[in-house]
Amino acid sequence: MSLIKKAKFQAMKDLGAPALMALGQAGKKRKPAKTPPEYFGPPLKSATRLKEIMTRHYLLARYAKGARPVAWVTSGAPVELLRVFGFYTIYPENHGALCGASRMGPALCQAAEEHGYHQDLCSYARIDLGHHFTQKTPAGRLPRPDLMFASNNICQTVMYWYKCLAHYWNVPLILFDAPYNFREITRLDIDYMVAQLKGMIPVLERISGKKFSHDRFAEVLALAKETSLLWGQALATMKNRPAPMTIFDAFIHLAPVVSLRGLKVAHGYYQMLLAELQERVAKGIGAVVPEKKRLMWDNIAIWYKVREYAELFASHGMNFVAATYTNAWAETIHYLDDNEPFESMARAYGLVILNNNLNHRLGLMEQMIREYQVDGLVIHSARSCKPYSLGQYDMKRLLMDRLGVPSVVIEADITDSRAYSEEQAKVRLEAFFEALEDDRAA
Ligand code: SF4
Repeated sequence: MSLIKKAKFQAMKDLGAPALMALGQAGKKRKPAKTPPEYFGPPLKSATRLKEIMTRHYLLARYAKGARPVAWVTSGAPVELLRVFGFYTIYPENHGALCGASRMGPALCQAAEEHGYHQDLCSYARIDLGHHFTQKTPAGRLPRPDLMFASNNICQTVMYWYKCLAHYWNVPLILFDAPYNFREITRLDIDYMVAQLKGMIPVLERISGKKFSHDRFAEVLALAKETSLLWGQALATMKNRPAPMTIFDAFIHLAPVVSLRGLKVAHGYYQMLLAELQERVAKGIGAVVPEKKRLMWDNIAIWYKVREYAELFASHGMNFVAATYTNAWAETIHYLDDNEPFESMARAYGLVILNNNLNHRLGLMEQMIREYQVDGLVIHSARSCKPYSLGQYDMKRLLMDRLGVPSVVIEADITDSRAYSEEQAKVRLEAFFEALEDDRAA
């Protein structure tokens, strides 16, 4: 690490970033605030703080290289271990979502395809590769990594995707291999994962130039666990009628628990969000007015459609109150336990939803439908994400048989809008709205 780069990073952190963000805020204040459509409740105040946190994170990322060890990390990787060594972490999936929401997905995917990558490859991977070939990003500039850190607990794609980038940049790749959970996690599975986690320590020490500290590890684990619990509590406020936020809000407010987990800033943010949501519940403030129907979302968001879908469903008095996707960061991270750090970490990361069997997912969806009093289910069949999309038609049928919940499948993609058919989605959604409205009339 270079002393000059460290000083520059620190100056940016203490002075530059706050000054730039204050300027941005002042510019915004000059513009009159837009009045939200009448079917939305008042916007969440915490959204301003969220924007600050994520803008600052990407701004400082530009100065991280050479000042801090930099790692690019998959969303399901045990990042807490990296925090002990002070890695600045970039989450390509979060960056992919940002590109998708900014409608840069198709152009970046195409850039990857022009270099020989197939359109059927996950669009987060194609965006990342497209960024590598073009350097285009809505985040300004991403720092080159010193380490690629992946876990195949979400899919096998990440292995090849990270391997390609590690090869292009000639940087090391650490892979955390999580055995698939067919029924129950076994002693053998845990021992296998613990051995890998412990084996990473000397490599991380070498790359970061820092010694492992058990105390620091315990602190990070406690913070990550608390953060995940707060996120879970924030989601649980949506069990109330009316729900104080929508899943479309939650898709956005998810960013810190994914990308900044194990850091104080994420923990502080969710304390703030939870307090605001609890206050809204106490005052009966809903996100959708009036809330006539409550829905659940399955799979990752369609990032280029978030705003449009939020308005469409809210205009029908329908609010999404639960999602398997947003729940994923509340479901297993709370297993972390600083009394048995490595074992608990193996459990937390080995049992994530995409590494767990379909029966588990079906049971979870049934439980969420009951607990959140869900009237209908919207299933996003994402062309990118095979592990999330496989088995969805069977689950749709089973949930209808068991709970009588109407559902619709939207075939789309997480960020590549070329895989989305406006006409098909319109026809399916109209039929779904009718089914729910008939249900109301019955
Ligand atoms: S295939 Fe699915 S789980 Fe894997 S990186 Fe893409 S979106 Fe994530």
